[in-house]
Amino acid sequence: MGDLPGIVITGASGRMGQMLIRTVLESGKAKLVGAVERAGSPWVGRDVGEAMGGAALGVICTDDPLEAFAKAQAVIDFTAPAATVEFAALAAQARAVHVIGTTGLEAEHLAKIAAAAHHAVIVRAGNMSLGVNLLVKLTQKVAQALDADWDIEIIEAHHNRKVDAPSGTALMLGEAAAEGRGVALADVRDSGRDGITGARQRGDIGFSAIRGGDIVGEHDVLFASPGERIVLRHVATDRAIFARGALKAALWGQDKAPGAYDMLDVLGL
Ligand code: NAP
Repeated sequence: MGDLPGIVITGASGRMGQMLIRTVLESGKAKLVGAVERAGSPWVGRDVGEAMGGAALGVICTDDPLEAFAKAQAVIDFTAPAATVEFAALAAQARAVHVIGTTGLEAEHLAKIAAAAHHAVIVRAGNMSLGVNLLVKLTQKVAQALDADWDIEIIEAHHNRKVDAPSGTALMLGEAAAEGRGVALADVRDSGRDGITGARQRGDIGFSAIRGGDIVGEHDVLFASPGERIVLRHVATDRAIFARGALKAALWGQDKAPGAYDMLDVLGL
């Protein structure tokens, strides 16, 4: 175990945090060396194995990220935008690979993450699954092949606890469609329709979000023209796909030069 890369999981008690802990433990490719939660979390000071209802793992959850990151070769972070910005600076200071799954990041957060990427490897993706990253490539190709007679709509569905919309994945798909069309998403993005919105603008890329129950994540990219439609669809049924992708990114980043990367780089797509 001595030579395996050491991983710290932030947001350890979260839905993804717990899945990431299990994935690292089961992988045989990395070792869990730390777990971070916010100050005041009931997990702080507890063994993470016991906090998850199992046997002790000898890893105590801390609210001091810098102390945890100092022991790590990689930090896997699925938390919230403000926390992720703070973790990016601290992971760069510790020269640890920072894998960011957090979504809902705004321009101000992205600028700070880009600054940290001058000093360390950062892999960030709104979706870490192989299937969605393939869908991104397919979306770009189909959008490139079709003109604006084909309306592009992205429809996503997630569980009822999700706080941001459109999802990070929907935005990745929108970016890919816009790139295929040779336009900037910001110029054609149409989200949150409600009321008398007027007719759809030619060339717009529309977004719709469904929230309910325990849906892990579903994404349709709809290309609709007079008389025919194409639908590209990805359905996630298990959060483990994101955790496995994130661990793959953490291992991939070990021998890379400082910089900002995404899952297309990791998967070689
Ligand atoms: P969640 O269950 O709410 O987990 C987030 C965890 O981060 C919580 O335990 C939260 O603690 C913790 N956290 C927040 N701020 C923190 C801080 N300052 N320091 C330490 N911990 C902090 O949410 P989730 O479903 O796991 O999703 C987390 C993020 O990952 C979301 O942005 C989601 O969209 C994204 N996600 C990405 C992918 C992908 O493939 N890229 C896949 C799934 C989810 P509190 O509960 O105390 O706030």
